[in-house]
Amino acid sequence: MRLILLGAPGAGKGTQAGILSSRLGIPVISTGNILRAAIKQGTHVGLKAREYVENGKLVPDDVIIGIVEERLAESDCAGGYILDGMPRTIPQAEHLEKDGVGVDCALCIDVDDETIIARMSGRRTCLGCGASYHVVSAPPRTEGICDNCGSELTIRKDDSPETVRNRLEVYHRETEPLLNFYAERGKLKTVKNQPSIEATTAEIVRVLGIEP
Ligand code: AMP
Repeated sequence: MRLILLGAPGAGKGTQAGILSSRLGIPVISTGNILRAAIKQGTHVGLKAREYVENGKLVPDDVIIGIVEERLAESDCAGGYILDGMPRTIPQAEHLEKDGVGVDCALCIDVDDETIIARMSGRRTCLGCGASYHVVSAPPRTEGICDNCGSELTIRKDDSPETVRNRLEVYHRETEPLLNFYAERGKLKTVKNQPSIEATTAEIVRVLGIEP
């Protein structure tokens, strides 16, 4: 399965990508997590990306394409992958297509802006492994500590209400056109927001036709 997850920031792409990855035994390639790790480590890519990420702007396409194509060339991607957060612009999608990166399905998790803004205020992120939590709907077992790797949970700088609004604007302008791009290719499937993480997973499993 070669899957692209589409949807606004905070729609639940990262959470569902993690669940689907365990279920299908394929890796998640999250450009956001790769960039945050690069920023934390102060690498060349991190230095280039920092300003954009912290202000909720899109990192230039050439940087993103470089990161993703390098990651896709690794052996664990041979049996499939889940792209979370990439492509985010038409030129990124065209690049993947031109380079023969296969896509079986582009799955959109459709959540309205008001729900996103309310949801993002409770999001907590692990700087160690990138896992996402929510103080109410998906709390960690121990407050402030990641269940997976034991690192401290933080509030992402770009999850402040003002930056979230900015990211939503960018999403509608730059990323939403991808829905048409993949619909025209017969690849788009959409799942409406559900009341819980489990219900969203169930809907995704149904839409993708994966064995429950
Ligand atoms: P995310 O964790 O997917 O919400 O991404 C966090 C931030 O990383 C975004 O707001 C962008 O600044 C940057 N980013 C992640 N993926 C991309 C992409 N495909 N194209 C451009 N910027 C990206």
